[in-house]
Amino acid sequence: MKAVLDHVGIAVSDLEASLAFFRDGLGLEVDTPEDVPSQRVRAQFVATGQSSLELLMATAPDSPIARFVAKHGPGLHHITLRVEDIGAALEQLRQRQVRLIDEEPRPGAEGARVAFIHPSSAHGVLVELKQVAQKRAEGEAPKRIPLGDIEVVTVSDGFFYLDGGAMFGVIPKTFWEKKATPDDRNRIRMAMRCLIVRGARTMLIDAGAGDKMTPKQADIYGFEREFNLSQSIPAAGLSADAIEVVLATHLHFDHAGGFTRRDADGAVRPRFSRAQYVIRRGEWEDANHPDERTKGSYFLENYKPLAEHNVLQLVDEDATVMPGVRVRRTGGHTMHHQMVIIESAGKTAVFAADLLPTAAHLPEVWIMGYDLFPIDTLNFKRAFLREAVEREYLIIFEHDPEIAAGYIREQNGKRYVEPVA
Ligand SMILES: [Zn+2]
Ligand SMILES: [Zn+2]
Repeated sequence: MKAVLDHVGIAVSDLEASLAFFRDGLGLEVDTPEDVPSQRVRAQFVATGQSSLELLMATAPDSPIARFVAKHGPGLHHITLRVEDIGAALEQLRQRQVRLIDEEPRPGAEGARVAFIHPSSAHGVLVELKQVAQKRAEGEAPKRIPLGDIEVVTVSDGFFYLDGGAMFGVIPKTFWEKKATPDDRNRIRMAMRCLIVRGARTMLIDAGAGDKMTPKQADIYGFEREFNLSQSIPAAGLSADAIEVVLATHLHFDHAGGFTRRDADGAVRPRFSRAQYVIRRGEWEDANHPDERTKGSYFLENYKPLAEHNVLQLVDEDATVMPGVRVRRTGGHTMHHQMVIIESAGKTAVFAADLLPTAAHLPEVWIMGYDLFPIDTLNFKRAFLREAVEREYLIIFEHDPEIAAGYIREQNGKRYVEPVA
């Protein structure tokens, strides 16, 4: 394996006092300190060329750094080696009977994944392995999927982070963290993947979070939108003006935020100037009258301007929106949450939205804590999954950070997602 010295960790008892030496004495540049709640430490990086020093101070008496300082006094604590594939590195060490403190990688600062090797296997040195997070600006390229006479293309509005516990409802963390690694704020990374359908007309299904978020919301949700619909639609070979229909699965901010944009004069207007926006009437009513429970997800500026600009078209029930494209109410997540079914030449693709946000939500009871009517989700999901396996539906996952689309297969009574290349 290739390993590069990332940093040297130094345990200190007083961070501020240590800066008198490292910053003022040596004249080194220091970063702003960062708290790592899972380790109960405050970490401050000191720049030293290609690698750095990490000053570590305990923030609680049961912190590993507090125990270290009590036993050995302040001093050298660990070295950290950066590896490309931490899973492969741990496997290689395991095969050589190296004693590991962490059998599986766990979340470190800035979205990195880390694991410690026991000093008894490393000649008295505590060694940390680290795999840095995927580069933030890296966007997801559009994926073209032919479907008979229709072409569907996935387009990305970037990524964001939601609390892992809320994303998996009643499922204990010990189960879900194996499928979705949380960061040090217990959040998991999620895509905002929309779908362009090119058939009789050019349609966009959902539009991500858009760019009207406040700095506070941006911090809470950790948006990574350096590559968003404004880049992704041209990358798919289209201009925003080519979109004739925008179809909503529901009006939560991570689906409808991109329906409107704030112009230079501060006014919020429809983002796709030539498009009609198709929204289910029940969802429209609920989103315009949010209650205590739903007001955190429904922001009027995302959809109210559509009515004011006369580009809104409400549909009352399951209907064909354009040839080969129809909506079907799922309920559950919201009372009028709907999925989109695209059919051509005997093939079917389903944009499942928040019924099946990620491939990890495949088991029937893995239902989001956000769902307003989880029993309705369960009933709909149970019937739908059976149908999806039997009829070989291609499922488009709106929120899965890696799998854009796949088939649900069943073998020996166990279901899994077979991603499409
Ligand atoms: Zn939602
Ligand atoms: Zn969502």
